[in-house]
Amino acid sequence: MSIAIAISNRSAKTLINALKKHLPGVEVKNWHEYQAHSDVEFGVCWQQPAQLWSHLPKLKVVSSLGAGVDGLIYDDKRPQTLNISRIVDPSLSEQMADFVLMSILNHQRNMAAYWQAQQARDWIFKRRKQDNKVTILGAGEIGLVVARKLHLNGYQVSTWSQTLKSANYIAQSFVGENQLVDSVKRAHFVVSILPATSQTNDLIDERVFCAMPKDGYFINVGRGNAVDEQALIKALEGNVIAGAALDVFKQEPLPSHHPFWDLPQLTVTPHVSAITDQQQVVEQIAENYQRFVQNKALINQVDVNKGY
Ligand code: NDP
Repeated sequence: MSIAIAISNRSAKTLINALKKHLPGVEVKNWHEYQAHSDVEFGVCWQQPAQLWSHLPKLKVVSSLGAGVDGLIYDDKRPQTLNISRIVDPSLSEQMADFVLMSILNHQRNMAAYWQAQQARDWIFKRRKQDNKVTILGAGEIGLVVARKLHLNGYQVSTWSQTLKSANYIAQSFVGENQLVDSVKRAHFVVSILPATSQTNDLIDERVFCAMPKDGYFINVGRGNAVDEQALIKALEGNVIAGAALDVFKQEPLPSHHPFWDLPQLTVTPHVSAITDQQQVVEQIAENYQRFVQNKALINQVDVNKGY
């Protein structure tokens, strides 16, 4: 009756205390506090250290602390039979929807120019951009919440995904690789909320940027693997598109010498668009622990073959 926590880029204190409260009698500790080869079968991971799997080789089920599971799926040291679940949390989707709306509004209301003008004590005037067509690449749990929020704020939203979507807030649903370029042709804003899989590597490339309207704006809050970075730099430098906001990158933290830092049309944020609230997700992790113990199907289980 034990849970191992392997979270390396933030404190897991809140999660550990809350899990203990939800699961009295269950031992909940950081992975390295267990003796090597202990009988721990359930874990919670985020950027887990490589030694985890050899230290606790009996792990059978692991919950990702976030919505993304690429850090587990592409961890080649994990047991191949490991069951993986992930977080599906309305408050995470809401955070993302706020962030995307804010990024769109910042661009429409010329906020970068005003911040710059303030440094120079300059009083400038710029007109609001009225373009309102958005395409969301990746219309899953989070993408659909973002789509709905944008629709409620007056945007015309289309989606692109593997399977067809239908909702009163979706103007058009595009599907599959051969509709990708069509999906962005009229989009003033293209927002990627795609997971990192072998199929999404460098998917957003020159074809996509060249197909977007000249005043188009690109936002990536999914995963950095999906963007061909050289193609984006070329598109920004050549004014093929007007600008971009990136929250995720191929390499994180973004190296200090990376050209993205110096592009004036680009806003960089350090992977903060939606952050798991440990208190908020403890119930679903505890439920999965109980389901595992009772030999029941997990909630939010990931199809490892699909990759997300
Ligand atoms: P879901 O698995 O619910 O949705 C993924 C979406 O991507 C689905 O619509 C899926 O299509 C689509 N998709 C996947 N592969 C392809 C492909 N090859 N071609 C077309 N569409 C594809 O994930 P969530 O919405 O919960 O999360 C999405 C991603 O957001 C996470 O994987 C994570 O990487 C990222 N994220 C980033 C955060 C941040 O702070 N920056 C925070 C939280 C999440 P279909 O619906 O047809 O299956």
